[in-house]
Parts: sequence; structure tokens; C-alpha cells
Amino acid sequence: MTRVYNFSAGPSALPTAVLERARDELLDWHGTGMSIMEMSHRSKDYVAIAERAESDLRELLSIPAGYKVLFLQGGASAQFAAIPMNLLRDKTTVAYVNTGIWSKKAIAEAKKYARVQIAASGEPNNFCAIPPRAAWTVDADAAYLHYTSNETIGGVEFQDIPDAGGLPLVSDMSSNILSRPLDVGRFGLVYAGAQKNMGPAGIAVVILREDLIGEPMAATPSILDYRQQADNGSMLNTPPTYPWYLLGLVLEWLKEQGGLAAIEAVNVRKSAKLYAAIDRSPFYSNPVDPACRSRMNVPFRIANTELEKTFLAEARAAGLVNLEGHRSVGGFRASIYNAMPEAGVDSLIGFMGEFERKYG
Ligand code: PMP
Repeated sequence: MTRVYNFSAGPSALPTAVLERARDELLDWHGTGMSIMEMSHRSKDYVAIAERAESDLRELLSIPAGYKVLFLQGGASAQFAAIPMNLLRDKTTVAYVNTGIWSKKAIAEAKKYARVQIAASGEPNNFCAIPPRAAWTVDADAAYLHYTSNETIGGVEFQDIPDAGGLPLVSDMSSNILSRPLDVGRFGLVYAGAQKNMGPAGIAVVILREDLIGEPMAATPSILDYRQQADNGSMLNTPPTYPWYLLGLVLEWLKEQGGLAAIEAVNVRKSAKLYAAIDRSPFYSNPVDPACRSRMNVPFRIANTELEKTFLAEARAAGLVNLEGHRSVGGFRASIYNAMPEAGVDSLIGFMGEFERKYG
């Protein structure tokens, strides 16, 4: 068996140690004679697995008291709707920062439920830079301020938490959660689909301040109602039991790596050397303002686009897969989440150098 270096943006590579453990536990979980997939979500064993995942997440992110953690279905996209439905309350307006494709999707969904004020937009800069906070105009009467902490397609990442101007701050962290320590106390709500940095597809995490829970719009579906989900331990209906378990294994793995400060140091090294390889050569380019380049998703191009197919084919032959850019933008993208070993990045950089020597 050969495992490739998988640079997929999501669903993405999982730590090999996690997959091996899941394999070992697949048929008979801890002597129960059954797979986790065959267990009732109400069983004592399963509830312990679910609770362990929550407490490990709380520990890793140092989640302060006064926050609920929910494990929900429908991916991050369901939260695009659930957030305005639950947090609008007696307001009419919500404020969003537009930094690219995922912000736009969140905005389009919010528009179904509220007036959306665009507090700032990266569009005039082709989404290659984040407008400085001083240039934002945030409606003081908005129910919350939303931003996308990492644009998975554009490769644009906030390096700091923006000042929310007194509003509850909401962030889509689907593609950079758990990649660095986070001051959760600065947020009203943080959410993320699991399938990049936390586990497999099928589960999303919502971390929210308790005082924001409890006054959803009348038409809010029960499964998107934060109060009902919080009161039922995210088990209002059958949760995605196996993804939740795998997410728990990823969290245990992260703790073994030394937690978020340790993984951040690795992520800084991995991304810095890949950007350095791109910048040092006129053959490769990345258009993003260095101040907001993503540590997780590194888009890059070669000037001669006719060579793209060859690049991908030769990379694949070298065991480096899923380097295609998003279908909407083309070029290449290397997604280097926590589970991508540093050796995978080194191997990609080596390959890029070889390719340039051959075709440059
Ligand atoms: N937000 C971001 C930043 C994403 O990258 C994605 C998925 N690529 C989503 C939201 C949508 O996530 P899901 O498919 O879980 O709904």
C-alpha cells in the first residue's frame, strides 16, 4: 500500500495514525463486539465518545465558560442560514465582510433572512487583499459582524481577529480552525465544516456564546435551532455518529502533536517554505498580498498555462495529488492542513524545482 501526499482542499487528508486507529477499531470497538457505526447514539459508550470529543475541543481551543459547542449536520453551508435565523432577533440588518467566494456564499444565504450590509469588500483588489480594518464601515445596529477567516479558494487568511466594533463577531473558520491558537472569547460564534482540518465530511462544529442562543426566527427548522440543539447535546435527531467519532480521534491526535501552538509552528514553517519557493522563481507566482496569505491553502500558477496538464500529471506520478486549483479559478492549489506532513511540502517543493529545471 502506498499513501500519496494528498493536497485536496476538502475533504482532505487525515492523519495516517487516525485512519489506522479507526481501522483497528472498526469491527469491534473496545470489546463491545460492534462497530461505532452500529451503536445507538443514546448508548453509554457512544455518549462517552461524543462527550470526549467536546471536552478535547474545549481543551485544545481553551474555550471559555459561557460557550456552547454544537456538532451539527448540513456542513458549514447549513450554518450560512442558521446564523441569521438564530442571531437576527429584533434587528433587521447583519454586517458581512466580503473576502471572496465563501464570503459571497454566506452573504447570499443571509440575504434570504436579513438586510446584509457589506462592511468591507476585497473585490476592488480582485480578492487578493483584505481591506484594512480602519477602512471598514460596520453598521452599528447590525445583529452581528461576519467574516471568513480563511478563503479556501482564494488563499486569503486573516492573520488577526478583527475588531468587531461592539457587535457579536461571527466567523466561518472551515478551512483554518485548529491550525493555530484562537481567542474564542473574542467571538459570538465560530463555525466550521470538519472536512478540512477536523475530520471527515458530514459534521460541522459551532461554538457560540450562550447569551446569543434562544430567540430564533419562528420559521427556523428545529435541527437548525441552536437552543434545541444545545438543550439536547446536539442529539435532537440522530447525529452523524461515525464522523463525530473520527473528529474525536483527530482531536486526540492533535493533542499528541502538542496542541495548537505546536501545530501552528509547523504550519508556519510549511507555508513559509512553500511561498518562498514560489516567490524565488519567476516561473511560479502567487497573487495574494503577503500580509494575508493563507497558511492552509496556497494557490499558485505557472506563466505558461499550456504546461499545467503536464505539471499535474508529473506531480501525480511523483505521488503528489489533487494540486488542481478550484474549478472556478484554475491554476494550482496546495492545501496543506494540519494532517499534511512537512515531508509532503518538502516533496512538493522539490518537485516544483525539478519541473522548472525541465520546462522553465
Ligand atoms: N466555508 C468555507 C471557507 C469552505 O471552504 C467551505 C467548503 N469548501 C464551506 C464554507 C462550505 O462547507 P460545507 O461543504 O461543509 O457546507
